[in-house]
Amino acid sequence: MTRLPALFISHGAPDLPIRSGAAQDFLRQLHQQFPKPKAILVVSAHWNTPYPTASTAPLPRTIYDFSGFPAALYNLTYPATGSPELAEQVVTLLSQAGLRAETHSSRGLDHGAWTPLILAYPEADIPVTQLSIQYRLGPDHHFRVGQALAPLRDQGVLLLASGAATHNFDGFNPTYNAEPPGWVTKFDHWLKEAVTQHDVNQLLNYRQIAPFAIENHPTDEHLLPLFVALGAGGETATGTPLHSSYVYGSFSMAAYAFS
Ligand code: ZN
Repeated sequence: MTRLPALFISHGAPDLPIRSGAAQDFLRQLHQQFPKPKAILVVSAHWNTPYPTASTAPLPRTIYDFSGFPAALYNLTYPATGSPELAEQVVTLLSQAGLRAETHSSRGLDHGAWTPLILAYPEADIPVTQLSIQYRLGPDHHFRVGQALAPLRDQGVLLLASGAATHNFDGFNPTYNAEPPGWVTKFDHWLKEAVTQHDVNQLLNYRQIAPFAIENHPTDEHLLPLFVALGAGGETATGTPLHSSYVYGSFSMAAYAFS
């Protein structure tokens, strides 16, 4: 079994699957870059629970956790089966690492999970389960979660952390392919540098160090999945930039692999 990377992807806005652009092109070819996973564990910025929680739903439903988008988006479904076994294993690994973790019997796939998956794995023939994040806990906690889950990569599980490299509605531009302002690109470039150098210390302390960190992440839930992928990459990991583009001016679509 080949070891799979841990990925961080930016999912942008919920209309991702019904728009076209560089990010969609990137996601459509993503599956070509490594062997087909046995299962996918999505860590979504849109599921917040007090403790890490993995869904044991056998058939996770598609959740439309947004409003005001075109009707076509609400007609899309992602019918992959769940993976209760993977969810149980996630809880076991986290518990062994001293982290309290739980399962949820019915949680489906929110748009942080299904909108990129429908582009990356449109056949929906790989079991998928979702793992929550904890908004009240910071980068260090999520890094530890990732470290605990690293062994899954050896079992053909693709860890897909889904958030946003930059995420601020104050900078929202209604033009889909609008040029990003400097305060967005400066943070995005800093992040790329730190990931490429695998500077874990800088990354974990990004809120104190990075340029325009607070402007790009007034709350940091959309960056927290990145720290799970970073931790799952392991001690000697390299961070590889996979993609860079922007939507609506203020959302970086940057993606990284950690392996
Ligand atoms: Zn989001």
